[in-house]
Amino acid sequence: MKIPLFTLLFLLGTQIGFTQPFFLPKLPYSYSEYAPQIDALTMETHHAKHHQSYVNNLNKALVGTRMESQTLIDLMFYAGFRSDVVRNNAGAHYNHSLFWEILAPLSAQSEMSQELSTAITKDFISMDSLKKTFLNAASSRFGSGWAWLIVSPDKKLMITSTSNQDNPIMDVVTERGIPIMAIDVWEHAYYLNYQNRRADYLNAVWSLINWGKVSEKYTMAINDSLLIELEKDSWPAMMEFHKVMAQTFHPSESGDLQPIRKRSGEFFAKAILLTASAPPKSLNNIAIHEGLTKLEKKCNEINSLVKKGAKDAVLIKKMAESHDLFHNVQGLCHD
Ligand code: MN
Repeated sequence: MKIPLFTLLFLLGTQIGFTQPFFLPKLPYSYSEYAPQIDALTMETHHAKHHQSYVNNLNKALVGTRMESQTLIDLMFYAGFRSDVVRNNAGAHYNHSLFWEILAPLSAQSEMSQELSTAITKDFISMDSLKKTFLNAASSRFGSGWAWLIVSPDKKLMITSTSNQDNPIMDVVTERGIPIMAIDVWEHAYYLNYQNRRADYLNAVWSLINWGKVSEKYTMAINDSLLIELEKDSWPAMMEFHKVMAQTFHPSESGDLQPIRKRSGEFFAKAILLTASAPPKSLNNIAIHEGLTKLEKKCNEINSLVKKGAKDAVLIKKMAESHDLFHNVQGLCHD
């Protein structure tokens, strides 16, 4: 079977974590098919104007920078290290893409899988209580934001909400996980038709959720290695070390050794704390402990070299080695 090139590119874009340059995904249905729950003009403005401008602003902010080769997931995972423009527009692109994916007109909806249904019963007792909790999270979100159904790193379903265009993949958010369902509670999502009646919009949009699609997202999420990355990133000693690593290694890459010369003692101290700390359950294995031991040794060596007044070139090389060792343990990098 011959697949048109743009279809292939679209599939690649949606399945391999949104690669650059980003583009507006096509809606699965026409703007008018979501009515009366969401009117055609709201759908069109939201998709063709709002979402399109998030995509444009994101591409514009990334082109020619060192972030140009990163996937959307990479950009969001370390949102706290990004500019507001990247954080907001990367989040907005991801959030809206998910939202379009899980909405369907009533006649086009498919059924929830047994797997998701069992998980909902386990974590929420019933679909009714899930709905109540979700709509409460969505209606009590102050100002602009999103409500989420996510799979947490320990593979539980959770309902959360975030402000602006943040989402649960981001390091700036407390309750993290992989979103499988989302509702946009920005006024631009409902104001034309519902004005200030957010609760009426929420009840209407709830009926457009295609649980068959959410089931697919659930199955993908519980098997996604991103859950492990999220669990690693919830390791406090790791986060502490990572901060010092980022603030000393990245300047050293461009020849600035001042940060590590000033902070080598702290760098080594955080490495000791990291080795002594308990890793998250999914990571508690020999390879991780061996990796941490090597990393601590390297940090010790760097600290001694700094104290001896080692040359810049030596420190640059050692910092790069420590960074490699670190990412053998940690995986993702945010530069
Ligand atoms: Mn929106």
